Amino acid sequence: MTKLNIQAIRRDFPTLHQEIYGFPLAYLDNAATSQKPVQVIDAVADFYREDNANVHRGVHQLSQRATDSYEGARAKVCRFLNADSDEEIVFVRGATEAINLVAHSFVRPMLKAGDEVLISHIEHHANIVPWQMLCDQVGAKLVVIPMTESGELDLSGFDDLLTSKTKIMAVGQVSNALGTVNPVKMMTEKAHAKGIPVLIDGAQAVPHMPADVKDLDCDFYVFSGHKMFAPTGIGALYGKQALLDEMAPWQGGGDMILSVSFEKTQYNALPYKFEAGTPNISGAIGLGAAIDYMQSIGIEAIASYEHELLSYATERVNKLDGIRVIGTAEHKASVLSFVIEGVHPHDVGTIFDQQGVAIRAGHHCAQPVMQFFGIPATARASFAFYNTMEEVDALVDSISKVQELFA
Ligand code: PMP
Repeated sequence: MTKLNIQAIRRDFPTLHQEIYGFPLAYLDNAATSQKPVQVIDAVADFYREDNANVHRGVHQLSQRATDSYEGARAKVCRFLNADSDEEIVFVRGATEAINLVAHSFVRPMLKAGDEVLISHIEHHANIVPWQMLCDQVGAKLVVIPMTESGELDLSGFDDLLTSKTKIMAVGQVSNALGTVNPVKMMTEKAHAKGIPVLIDGAQAVPHMPADVKDLDCDFYVFSGHKMFAPTGIGALYGKQALLDEMAPWQGGGDMILSVSFEKTQYNALPYKFEAGTPNISGAIGLGAAIDYMQSIGIEAIASYEHELLSYATERVNKLDGIRVIGTAEHKASVLSFVIEGVHPHDVGTIFDQQGVAIRAGHHCAQPVMQFFGIPATARASFAFYNTMEEVDALVDSISKVQELFA
């Protein structure tokens, strides 16, 4: 058993300590969004209490402190991702905005009718729809890596999907609906061998495992802060500097310029070229605090404890009759999706809630995955390092309760 002091960790998360319908809350909806530790809440509150000012533009003390904290957070993201320089880190609203930025600024200018964008069958809508919109605009084709019954990518024909027409491969590192961990490093290597740039959607990876853009050698890496214990409305795009340098800005406005006249505007240096307007300063500071927090626990230790949680949950659920686990990949992270025979997942979610167990019921913004399995939705429990084996037991008890009610 991994030695994390879970009770001490839980004391850092105020929201976890409450009752729902008289039951202790078991928060198992972490893939949707995670709870926030006091260290993050305080970092945001302290900024507003003590340093609040706009960044980059002021000469006064508060603005300098705000700028230092904001840029300090960028340096933390850079180290967290093992990027080469702060200039490769663009603050965005989240994974969704980062993907749209790459679609518009990097892919769109080079995409022609007949070209291809390669994604996979198990992507979140955020890594499907922006590409589909782009393909529709220019008459390009969205090509999809198929999936298997276990919820893994079917890579048997992968080499043939990487063609001279492929302008980008965009794949998730971990599936939010199934928990599958994809072999993105190997896939990136193969794509690069054919000169194809790669975007990795790390939204479901960063809370659970080390993210190392140098090791992956991806061209772009995107994630959202709110799934890794930081505030909502902040996330980051990593891009290799040479690529970001060549890309035109996506949005125009203040802060992304060096000079403006009606005849000509000169854009700012990286990464400011991509950060038009007043950014989410407190969010970035909260993200920096979340990174500090995760690193103080140890990301390897988090990964290994969550692996134990998921194995225990899977083992217990597999022993039950009348339940089908959706997503049985060999390598999984923190997600247990399932359907209970004869019960709609939304009813499952509602009855669980009445037992204090918070899970998600729905298509998890991955409708093609649901279509593959021929189901409208699943119930999904998703774990974070503050969850306990007792909460897994509460989950299993809730399944039994549902089965009793629907017997
Ligand atoms: N990709 C994956 C794999 C996700 O799970 C999510 C969020 N559920 C996103 C992208 C989009 O993240 P956001 O809504 O924070 O932009």
